[in-house]
Parts: sequence; C-alpha cells; structure tokens
Amino acid sequence: MLLRFALIPCLLALSLPTCKKSAVSNGSANGANASASASPAKSDTSAGSTTASAQSVAPLPPPPAKPAIDQNAEVVIFGYHRFVNQVRRPDTEITPQDFEKQMQELKNKNIPVIPLQDLLAWKRGEKAIPPRAAVITFDDGWKSQHDVAWPIMQKYGYPLTLFIYTEGIRPGHFSGGESMTWEMLAEMRDAGVDIQAHSATHQDLRRPYDKVAKKKLNPQEYEQWLNNELIGSKQMIEQKLGVKCNCFAVPYGFYNGHVKEVAMKAGYEAMFTVYGQPITYRTPNDSLGRYLIEANKPKVFEDAVAAVANVAAGPAVAEVSNSTLSTSPANGETIRNAMPLIRANISSFGQIDPNSLQMRISGVGLVKPSYDPKTETVSYQATQKLSGPVTVIIGATVGGKKTESTFSFKVEDGGGAPGPATSAPPSASPAPTKK
Ligand SMILES: [Zn+2]
Repeated sequence: MLLRFALIPCLLALSLPTCKKSAVSNGSANGANASASASPAKSDTSAGSTTASAQSVAPLPPPPAKPAIDQNAEVVIFGYHRFVNQVRRPDTEITPQDFEKQMQELKNKNIPVIPLQDLLAWKRGEKAIPPRAAVITFDDGWKSQHDVAWPIMQKYGYPLTLFIYTEGIRPGHFSGGESMTWEMLAEMRDAGVDIQAHSATHQDLRRPYDKVAKKKLNPQEYEQWLNNELIGSKQMIEQKLGVKCNCFAVPYGFYNGHVKEVAMKAGYEAMFTVYGQPITYRTPNDSLGRYLIEANKPKVFEDAVAAVANVAAGPAVAEVSNSTLSTSPANGETIRNAMPLIRANISSFGQIDPNSLQMRISGVGLVKPSYDPKTETVSYQATQKLSGPVTVIIGATVGGKKTESTFSFKVEDGGGAPGPATSAPPSASPAPTKK
C-alpha cells in the first residue's frame, strides 16, 4: 500500500520538464509581496533589544550543557508538494484554501509549529519543545511553494523547511516554469526558511539506473551515482546557498540499508521518509516519518492531528531547571551590590515569544527586562536596592505555553554602594520595552 502511494510522485518528477511549456509567470507580484513581509519572527525582536548598560557588560558564559527537556513530547511532520487553485493531481496538490484551513486548524487545536531544526535539537537533548508540536515541510521545489504557500506560512508566523532536489531547481535538468529558482531559494533562506536535500535527480535510490544518462549502472557506477545523489546534492545546496544541510528526505520514501548507510556517512543528521507517524524522543533519526498531505485524503491530516492531540499537555506552566540557565548573579551567589544588573541566558527555553517575556523579582514585583535575541539573554538593571535573599522568576511563552525558570541570590547586609555596572539610568524607569 505504501508502495502504491510512493509511486505516484514519480509522475510528478517526470512531469516537471513538460511544465516548461506551460510556464506562467503569475507569481512575480506575490513574490514581491512575500519578500516585503519576509522576516522571521526572530529578527523582528532585534530593535531596542539591548540597553546601554547591557552593552558594556562582558558576555555571559555559555549556558551549561543540557536543558531539562520533555522526553514525552511528540511531533508530527507534514509534507506538501504543490499549491494550486484547480487540483488535477490530488496525490500531490492541494488548494491554498485547504492548506490555510489546515494551518488554522493547528492553531485552533493548540499544536504549535516548530522549526525542523528545533526537533533535531530536542532529540539531541539540547532544546526544549512544546509537549506536542508540528513541523511543516514542502518537497521538490515547486514555485507555488514560494508564491502561494509561503505567504500563508508567514501570515501564521510558522517556520518552514524545504526539501529540494537540485536538478529540479531552475535551471536544473528536470526544472521547468513551475520550478523555483536558486534566487527564490536565497530569498526564502534570508527570511529564515530552512533548505534541505531531497537528492539530485529524484529517483529510486535503490535502483542502479541513471535517468539523466538513461543507462543501467554497473556496481561501481551505481556507487558513484548514489554518492552524487546523496552527497553531491548536499554540497550543491551548501555551496549555492551558504547553509548547513543536515537533513535528507528520501525520494518516494524508497531506501534500503545501504542507502541509509551512505547517507548517514555523508554527514546527514536525519533522514525523512513518507510513513507518517508521531516522532518521539526515541524515534531513530535515520527514518523519521512524515505525513504527506494529499487533496483527496484529508483524513491523513486529521489522523496526524488526532495522533498528537491526545498527548498529555503536561502542567500548565513548564518549569525549566535553573541548572540550564547561565545567570548573573549566579544561582546561590552572595553579592555586595544591592542594585545589580540581573542577566540570564535563556536559550534552554527554546523559541520564546519575545513580547511575552517578563521578570519578577521578590520584594519588587513585575519588571520588564530587555532581551537580546542574538545572545538569547534577558537583562534588567535593578533600579531600587535589593536586600537579603532575592528570587528572580523569568517567564516567557514558548510555542503557546507559559514557561518559567527561577533562580536566587543573596545581597549581603550593608552592601549597597552601587558598583560601576549600575551607571545605568538612575531614574526608576524600567528598561525599555520592545515593540
Ligand atoms: Zn519528492
């Protein structure tokens, strides 16, 4: 049954060259709009993110090794191909309206969309993710992904990964008028889209047959050809776009032990197949299943959503252990300066919504700290004298979920002469807030 599914996209790859004839440049206006509004959530936050006082302070040491991550989280990965108003090939096409409905449904069901790289960082034990989440991927490099679907993704603020096969990108051998160009990919890369490999020529990697040369390959030629499909495509993406390519989506989901071995040796961190399943902390990275969404099988999407909808949402507030924060003053430290600059590297929180960031200080209450998204550091200059034991609670929304971490330090009695670090505004005005 899976084979039957997987065979259908064959037609898609074969049909690309014929699309040249029907090339329609209806997307340029959309493309311009997309680039005008193209800015990843993260870069929006850079304005006003540092205060004068924070700039003059030495950087915090990197946060200690591993954050406390939720090993029970589950993630579903969706794969899409083409976005068209008139569906002719329901196995690989979907209307923009139906696509947007699905993106909205993820929002309605409180299933945050996270970057694919966050999923991998979580599996490495380096980053927290929400208890249930989705990852969105587009395959093959169709132009409608750039013109039609990407603006919808931007509207929702969802991160995106593309799996492209290099000969399907204009002016590659299998490209046509409906294919993306390297320039479009560069534009998407600049806006934060993750671009990963899907082979060079999109063939069944188990078969010793070269579709470009139209010839059967002997064992030696096959190895060479397989290397080009797996490694050549990775190198081309890395060199043309100046990115790190660590993921490979297997064409049609067809692979065997040898293909897997060559791919993992080539330096890929993860391989993606087409057998949709919720990804858990323990799912092997060499076969991460994606749900391929087809216009005539809406149930695939519903099943995937249902699969994670039942994952326990966990406690209302996620606690991040303070052992994963690098703070100043350090947790448990005794200091003399009663008006310290309080800072914490909160990279272990995961992808925070910077507007949601807040800090509470015992004896003071709620303050508005500043945030530098580059260093993922929160800072707040105390504007009144602190004394005795001081507890700091940092809170932020991560993937729609409230996340907190607490640390404390002690101000020595009789301390108080503000040190040079407190040359910040003497007024009681809090640090500037971000917009
Ligand atoms: Zn494909």
